[in-house]
Amino acid sequence: MKLPSRSKSYIIPEYSLTGDLLSFLTCNLQYRYQNRGTLPPSKPVQRWFGEFIHGVMEEAFIQWKHENTQFPWDWKADIRPIEELIDLRLQVRGLYPYDEDLFFSILNQPDENLTIDDLNEHDHKKLASARAERAINIWGKHLFPLIDSSELLIKGIREMPEYNEKTSRSNYYGINGVVDVLTSMKINKNLKQSTLDNFNNKIIEFLKKDPDFQKRISQFDEGDDYEIIIDYKGMKRPPVKISNPKAEDKWKTHKQQILTYSWLRSKQEDSKPIVAGIIFYLNELVPSKEDLVLIKDELQNGLTDVGYDFTRDVQLIEKWQEEDKAPDLSDGFKIERSIRIINVDETEQKDALEKFDSVVATIESSLIKEMNGCKIQDAWKADSDERTCSACDFKTFCKNNSVKTKDFKIP
Ligand code: SF4
Repeated sequence: MKLPSRSKSYIIPEYSLTGDLLSFLTCNLQYRYQNRGTLPPSKPVQRWFGEFIHGVMEEAFIQWKHENTQFPWDWKADIRPIEELIDLRLQVRGLYPYDEDLFFSILNQPDENLTIDDLNEHDHKKLASARAERAINIWGKHLFPLIDSSELLIKGIREMPEYNEKTSRSNYYGINGVVDVLTSMKINKNLKQSTLDNFNNKIIEFLKKDPDFQKRISQFDEGDDYEIIIDYKGMKRPPVKISNPKAEDKWKTHKQQILTYSWLRSKQEDSKPIVAGIIFYLNELVPSKEDLVLIKDELQNGLTDVGYDFTRDVQLIEKWQEEDKAPDLSDGFKIERSIRIINVDETEQKDALEKFDSVVATIESSLIKEMNGCKIQDAWKADSDERTCSACDFKTFCKNNSVKTKDFKIP
């Protein structure tokens, strides 16, 4: 009797929006080493801060929901314990702040003597805490009452682009992401509440000012529910136009990310129509010196979309030099620059999904080349801008890095 052999296991490759799409677009080869090879970056400050601020906002929301602590929150009593908790969670995953840039690791800096006055936002070493405090006290009080579901895992599957029965790994691939969701029911309830207690919700104000958003919701009858997706970014607002053609167009990729999230969410049974997404660029609340250099350049060269109406702030930034103390920017300027509303348009959503498909097709083709024996550096394209290359761990052996590694010495 011939025994049947066990069939090959059926695996659907999974791709995440932030971990794969955004990181692959930064540099294909760096993505290969860091994400697929699970080689953690040696100085993952950007990643640490992104995850830290996300975690702080999520945890702060949960605490607000249970304890309803009134804003403003006290940094030492209410916020610092959350920071410590998130820092520990990240340490377990091997993510540490870069001590020279960001103060933080509780192992190195016991906090019993720290006070809110230590959160001097001009001191680079306390940036992470200063931003966490601003994010909660500026946006938390407007955002938390509108959140309906937090940390929602959204998943979906799509047909594998350029599928080939013989060579492709699977005929489908999965996409996943995590978002917070606001509903119109909560927005309307908050609107009524706002009128009663004279509290103006800033997020509702921004939504009311947005003509595309208003046009979109005018199609709904009263009582129809809709949703808005929220994402936080531990970075400054990206420019709307990029001057360096090699640099990744973050403005565009963030929009694609929101549009893909909206498609994923729409596939879930309990979802309502998704009309928009909001991204919070939280570094804008406390910009670092590097952020200020970029903001200054973008304002001077018309590369950014907001901020020009704040004449005093624009003048302060123009006068500011790198060796000066950070300029005293107004909250209005910071708030306006830290929020971005992206309206969901079906045609653009389709384009974003096709773009995601094409990224997956390129990743899959590089993977298959590698599986067939091609060398890593030949299978994955190494191409990025100078800023990314200079912070890259692989620059010493990458054939295509744009930064000359003349300082590199073998001890
Ligand atoms: S050095 Fe630059 S091109 Fe090379 S892997 Fe790193 S980011 Fe990519």
